[in-house]
Amino acid sequence: MLHGPRAIALERRPRPALAPWQARIRVGLVGVCGTDRALYSGALPTAYPLVPGHEFVGVVIEVGDPRDREWIGRRVCADINNTCRSRRVPVARRCRACRVELEHHCQRRDVTGIHEAAGAFAEELVAPTANLFAVPDAVSDSRAMFCEPLAAALQAFEQVPVGRGELVVVLGTGRLGALIAAVARRRGADVLAVGRSAHKLARCRALDAGELRSVDELDPAALRALVDARSEGLGADVVVEATGTAEGLSSAQALVRPRGTIVLKTTCGLPSGFDLTRAVVDEVTLVGSRCGPFARALELLERDPLPVETLIEETYPLPETARAIERAGEVFKVAVQVST
Ligand SMILES: [Zn+2]
Ligand SMILES: [Zn+2]
Repeated sequence: MLHGPRAIALERRPRPALAPWQARIRVGLVGVCGTDRALYSGALPTAYPLVPGHEFVGVVIEVGDPRDREWIGRRVCADINNTCRSRRVPVARRCRACRVELEHHCQRRDVTGIHEAAGAFAEELVAPTANLFAVPDAVSDSRAMFCEPLAAALQAFEQVPVGRGELVVVLGTGRLGALIAAVARRRGADVLAVGRSAHKLARCRALDAGELRSVDELDPAALRALVDARSEGLGADVVVEATGTAEGLSSAQALVRPRGTIVLKTTCGLPSGFDLTRAVVDEVTLVGSRCGPFARALELLERDPLPVETLIEETYPLPETARAIERAGEVFKVAVQVST
């Protein structure tokens, strides 16, 4: 239970009763991501107290409505956006966002493990049954744990489809950037992934994430020269900004072609050095991008050997969640093993 920045405690809580639209899940494995780190540090404000944890796989042990009993015993992931549809609100009474197919932007949503809904750093978790996705037998827990971040990576290209031969630059080769670069490669794009740490670049290599370059060896001019060499001097078709820094957006602007698209995956406040005049003159499109399609992520994990599980470097038991979150600042991917 997170009571405030860096104030985390292991507590025994009463088991909440289930509403008819809810299911209880025994948590298996949970990934730690940048959002958990931001919640823990206070950089991402939330309503405390909160049980964090949103990248999980587990087994359904109870359902609120007997008509959902086929879910009991199934291994699942769950979409973390809890919406009008999740609560089985009749269509006519859903919020406008949900009625116009902006369900991930539900005006009454809460978000499991992030905002006003208890998350997965716990023995059990309650989620809307309508949000569940059955994990195929062929997908191990250590792969299924990546369903949520992989869905977020896929979302970039749901919003901005890329085709064979298009030049996609991914800025930032952290947990999300690595997955984004790997997905772009699988869509046939020419991918250039740029990161700070040699260690992270080595992790990306395992995912076949395209050409990898370290910013240590590249100044901004050298980076632009690499892009020019691949685009006859025009610039990248798409630049995905996943650096987690305020400077990422101006770096992206220096690389994108006229009428190109910058996909924004960093949530860290005001950009510095972004040239609005140039954005107008170059007719650049900026696309914010957040959560993605779970079903497609699971499909990819089932049919593609993409070795996401090799990104996990350390695993901790539930009582050591604080340490797991802290270690996620040092190593690539950390997991919390709640049950097996
Ligand atoms: Zn996450
Ligand atoms: Zn809604």
